[in-house]
Amino acid sequence: MALPKRKTSKSRRDKRRTHYKAIAPAVSTCSNCGEPSRPHNICSSCGFYNGRKILETEKE
Ligand SMILES: [Zn+2]
Repeated sequence: MALPKRKTSKSRRDKRRTHYKAIAPAVSTCSNCGEPSRPHNICSSCGFYNGRKILETEKE
């Protein structure tokens, strides 16, 4: 099994991780209720997708 010859120092490890960043989730507004929702997903507040009601929601 291949093993690293040297321990990766904190500096080297942390420098590698400078390229890691959190990605902001895509947000669009629902065409039915105007609430923010994720694109290509059923609106979580009104249950509409592509102009049709897909899910019944608890509150109107
Ligand atoms: Zn909606």
